[in-house]
Amino acid sequence: MQSPIQVYLDSLRTRLASMQGGELANYIPELSKADPSWLSISLVTMDGVAYSTGDSEQQFTIQSISKPFVFATALADRGVDFVTRKVGVEPSGDAFNSISLNPKTGAPLNPMINAGAIATASLVSGGTPEAQWERIIASMSAFAGRELGIDAAVYRSESETGFRNRAIAWMLKNFGIIDGEPMASLENYFRQCSVLVDCRDLAYMAATLANGGLHPLTGERALPVEHVERVLSVMATCGMYDFAGSWLYEIGMPAKSGVGGGIIAVLPGRFGIGIFSPRLDAKGNSVRGIEACRQLSQDFGLHVFRRAGEPAMALGRVYTAAEAPSKRQPTPDMRSYLNEHAQRIKYLCLHGYIAVDGVEYVIRRMIDMVPDTASFILDMHQVDGISESAARLLNEARLRFAGDDIAVVFSRIHGRHAIEHFLSTTAPKTDHGYLSFEDNDLAVEWCENRLLGDSQQATVIRVALGDCALLKGLPPELLALVADAVVKKQFAPGEPILTTGEAGDGHVFFIEQGYVSILVPLDDGAHQRIATLGPGMSFGEMILLGQSKRSATVIADCQVNCWILDADDIDHLAHDAPMLRITLLENLSRDMAEKLRRATQWIAALA
Ligand code: GLN
Repeated sequence: MQSPIQVYLDSLRTRLASMQGGELANYIPELSKADPSWLSISLVTMDGVAYSTGDSEQQFTIQSISKPFVFATALADRGVDFVTRKVGVEPSGDAFNSISLNPKTGAPLNPMINAGAIATASLVSGGTPEAQWERIIASMSAFAGRELGIDAAVYRSESETGFRNRAIAWMLKNFGIIDGEPMASLENYFRQCSVLVDCRDLAYMAATLANGGLHPLTGERALPVEHVERVLSVMATCGMYDFAGSWLYEIGMPAKSGVGGGIIAVLPGRFGIGIFSPRLDAKGNSVRGIEACRQLSQDFGLHVFRRAGEPAMALGRVYTAAEAPSKRQPTPDMRSYLNEHAQRIKYLCLHGYIAVDGVEYVIRRMIDMVPDTASFILDMHQVDGISESAARLLNEARLRFAGDDIAVVFSRIHGRHAIEHFLSTTAPKTDHGYLSFEDNDLAVEWCENRLLGDSQQATVIRVALGDCALLKGLPPELLALVADAVVKKQFAPGEPILTTGEAGDGHVFFIEQGYVSILVPLDDGAHQRIATLGPGMSFGEMILLGQSKRSATVIADCQVNCWILDADDIDHLAHDAPMLRITLLENLSRDMAEKLRRATQWIAALA
């Protein structure tokens, strides 16, 4: 099936094909040989997919579109301070070939006009002009994701006729902006302008900027991320020369044009766009290129100042542990306490990319809930990422809530380094760090224990064999028989007691003391805990229903004492005392009915 994006681009090209107006650049003689009807549009996504329409393989010279990339290279090589001393970042509102120098320092106003670009070409690293050229072409190639070359004829043509640029280069030398040999830097500038690209290359170069400096297909870093915003800002304010203000006003994307007929536009984090159509307006910008960007911006809502979404988007469902309690099966005392207080544990499902605006909303909602809250569980499962400043605010909020004795814990961020990284690096030094649980069940159980007071106390509860749920209601003489048949065993913390898929040895376990986790394996090799069982509860009892393979893994959470009963012994005993089997099965069905009820409640809470 054809993507509607492709259909849209094809129809945009058809609509623009008939658009008249504009002239080929002719001040560089070789450029006037272009076919005025050429038209192509490419759009590259952040995962590196290119949609192209028109003459997308037609090569042309990049011209001024090289300027942001060489500026980027100079920033990477020489650092911000050094480069800023040589070239300003103020929009000149002048034509590309104007001689706009700061009257005091002689520094060109910005790197997008020729004066600034010739200066930046002299700033990239390399001991000789040749080495500097190698650096420039390698860097531009990294942005494009393939090895680029130059159009020798265009280069020669410009070098032979570029007297105005030659004058600019000498001015720069005069003011000490260019340290070395100005004519050598100028030749490198002419070479960078004559680099051959097609429309797709432009879109990939733009996409690399949109993607924080990382080429979306090759994965090569073309520019350290900290410089990307600088390059895009200069493009936004100066990229279209004396049309830059109207461009930002109407179309609103950092962009750069070249007299070869190309335009790039960059949508940070979203798209890179390349357009090629060689007829230019009086300011040297591609006529149909501007129109293509205008329509793309309107039809897809791409203006960078357009509001991105509702702040409330960062927060999805909010619910409480009354609706979704832990899967631990609590003792009757614990249950009645939790029934009364579980709504004081709040789950907040965050989603999307969490930035400052989103986190402000989440924190405000949390503050509103303070009077009725003991703990917050921030479920991060659907969070795609978090900004450093948002992580810092979350940490600050967590500490303030802690001051009011309200816990804020995270769930489901394990192994998601981008999120974990900012949450740990932005936590104040004095803090013990944030608490994070692999799943909501562990998180809510921790919060329940906190509600119940000292969670340690729970582990010292010990029951008698007759109090075990499965044996409830057995007449004393039958219980005595069972007591004779069981063997007692102790398990160390973390010790596996049963393993999924293992052939059962016919044992049923009754917990006297301690807790075990019931885990089921997931496809990716990890485990999901489905329940925690404590004193008086049983596991492995499915054997009584004839199931021979263990359906879950059971691990001791702490030191656990169990009574173990062999299913054969039960058969044996039940032979003479059928009441034993009847009672066991009755208790078992009651237990299963309760599990089913809880599972249904959970499914409803998650829906
Ligand atoms: N090489 C051209 C020049 O310096 C580039 C100008 C442009 O594309 N605007 O004149």
